[in-house]
Amino acid sequence: MSIRVMALFLLAGSMSAQTPPSSAPSAPTRILGFRNAAPQLKLDQDFLQVPDAVLAGQELKTLTAAPHVAGSKEDYATAVYVAEKFRQAGLQTKIVPYRVLMNLPKKIQVSAYGADGKKIMSGPTPEHVSDDPYQDDKRIVTPFHAYSPSGDVTAEVVYANYGRPQDFAQLAAQHISVRGKIVIARYGKNFRGVKAYLAQQNGAVGIIIYSDPADDGYFRGDKYPEGPYRPASGVQRGSILYLFKFPGDPTTPGFASTTNLAAGKRLSQKDSPSLPAIPSTPLSYQDAAPILKALGGPESPRKWQGALPFTYHMGPGPVTVHLLLKQDYALRTIWDVIGKIPGTKYPDSWVVVGNHRDAWVFGAVDPNSGTASMLEAVHGIGALLKQGWKPQRTLIFSSWDAEEEGLIGSTEWAEQHAAQLEKAVAYFNIDVGVAGPKFDSSAVPSLKPFVVDITKLVPSPMGGTVYDKWLRDQQQAAAKRHAQHPETPAALLVDGIHMDDLGSGSDYTPFIQHLGVPSTDIGSNGAYGVYHSAFDNYAWFTKFADPTFVYLQQQARVLGLEGITMADADLLPYDYALYGDAVVSYLHAASDKALAAKMPGLDFAPALAAAQRFRDAGARALLAEKNPAGDLRQQNEVLRRAEEDLLSNTGLPDRPWFKHTIYAPGEYTGYAAVVIPGVNEAIDAKDPSLAAKQLLVLTKALNRSAATLSGMP
Ligand SMILES: [Zn+2]
Repeated sequence: MSIRVMALFLLAGSMSAQTPPSSAPSAPTRILGFRNAAPQLKLDQDFLQVPDAVLAGQELKTLTAAPHVAGSKEDYATAVYVAEKFRQAGLQTKIVPYRVLMNLPKKIQVSAYGADGKKIMSGPTPEHVSDDPYQDDKRIVTPFHAYSPSGDVTAEVVYANYGRPQDFAQLAAQHISVRGKIVIARYGKNFRGVKAYLAQQNGAVGIIIYSDPADDGYFRGDKYPEGPYRPASGVQRGSILYLFKFPGDPTTPGFASTTNLAAGKRLSQKDSPSLPAIPSTPLSYQDAAPILKALGGPESPRKWQGALPFTYHMGPGPVTVHLLLKQDYALRTIWDVIGKIPGTKYPDSWVVVGNHRDAWVFGAVDPNSGTASMLEAVHGIGALLKQGWKPQRTLIFSSWDAEEEGLIGSTEWAEQHAAQLEKAVAYFNIDVGVAGPKFDSSAVPSLKPFVVDITKLVPSPMGGTVYDKWLRDQQQAAAKRHAQHPETPAALLVDGIHMDDLGSGSDYTPFIQHLGVPSTDIGSNGAYGVYHSAFDNYAWFTKFADPTFVYLQQQARVLGLEGITMADADLLPYDYALYGDAVVSYLHAASDKALAAKMPGLDFAPALAAAQRFRDAGARALLAEKNPAGDLRQQNEVLRRAEEDLLSNTGLPDRPWFKHTIYAPGEYTGYAAVVIPGVNEAIDAKDPSLAAKQLLVLTKALNRSAATLSGMP
């Protein structure tokens, strides 16, 4: 323990390691969707008393005691631990196994040779810093990319910056071909699978993805162990599964990889569209530096320059790299943990709360800060159960496995329960629960006001509510970046808060984008430079993220309140008026883009009219939600069906698994959401006839949903 951490502990100890639940000064007196808010607000207060910072810290320490990559026996031990906590709280609990195709590294070797043929680098160098209590654990998995094929290739190297479409276009513009070459690209700006996908499409024979100190290393601040940023040897492991095609087991798109699935039902590996075709592996900047330094060819554009101490060139060569990757592919068993509290009034209507449990290494931030928060939320709900409370809707807590490989545990479970999930009213995700003190959330627009309302009920460790702190953080950030970023239109702010749309990169994807279950994601961010490395461990967490675990406590409170509030609402608190405003703004932006792309023949008027109808019907429904009365059961069905109406049976062109017409992960952005994806991707592909067809699909979906909402009894 360092002097700095000791000081923080002493300071916190002299005040109180916990944030008292009553420090929320301006708690709302009414909640959307409740006939009578007073008993619910009392229940909320009872709940808020229970989640405990000290216990959350202990749970985090237990969960992160050993590396627990998906499918390992240490991973199974964490499943047993979580299941036991669920049972203690009174949840009906099962450990649910799936059999899924996954690789582990058998041999990973990267060697580089200079112009004279002399070896200039041989890696990967083991992750190591001057002082870390966890780094020498023999069970730490060698840095690798999940779903990289095996490969043995030698080729000249080309530097491709972040490996985005515009980066490959820039190379082409300078007549630098990556065909037959090994691409080296830096992490950041998009999903690593997109970098591999573009390298493959452009004819590269392999790709190395490294962490540049400009992006999460010394250029940002002190590196670990002195500071929170990535040290020279730190590597970002990760999956390159083409999850923008579909997530989950690459051999079972659309159906579950149950343990008794007949072998003949699986796609063969070579037929799976989500499996990459070229070998790919991650490197630290310590190992990448000699390769980049030895690159010839033209100077890179100045924006491509990272923070290593030499001028970056683009290549190709004269440096060559030998990639030797031996991957061990096998069907492996993974374990979700599912805990259920049956609803009294609407047992078929599910509220699902979820977090993944598997980690690349120790996973203190990603994902077990989320797991500890979820366990303390469950602890609080257990206390409510003991005092006799029962939810109106069925509340399900889920601890997903193999999220890191490609949202596998959540996707397989969602596919298995697709029919029941058609009636699920919400999915609440937490992944990176706490990396620092800055609360943030993304959500489907209908649930953005719900999340904001919940944060007004939860105290911040900094005083006031989570909402107060969130708003202050956003105002400060906005002031800083004022010049570059356009303001969010006022109509899309929720009480001054901007919330992002859901892209991909965590377990909400199968729920919202495949099944149309309204979803949210919460996190609390900070300077986090050790993502997916051996240094994302308990020592790092207690030094840099949350020494007294009060943010774990905060996140437990927010997540738990999401669950119990949604489970008990008389009318589902969805804001379809805000949703409509969002779709109108997406359509205006797409229409501007179509004009700029010289596709003036596209007629946006019918889609805009449908979006307006959807918006207006949503505004009328919102009035009913403010004063619940009449046949609530029927009204709830209408409110839920309105989201389902936004799915299209056929899905996106070439990506039929993605059925939502408003949100999908971008084929070329990966993590970031592409809104009205059918339309926008057709415009990006300069395909006016496809864009016209997709506008029609969207118009129909919006009209369906508007008609449903107009039928609100
Ligand atoms: Zn994660």
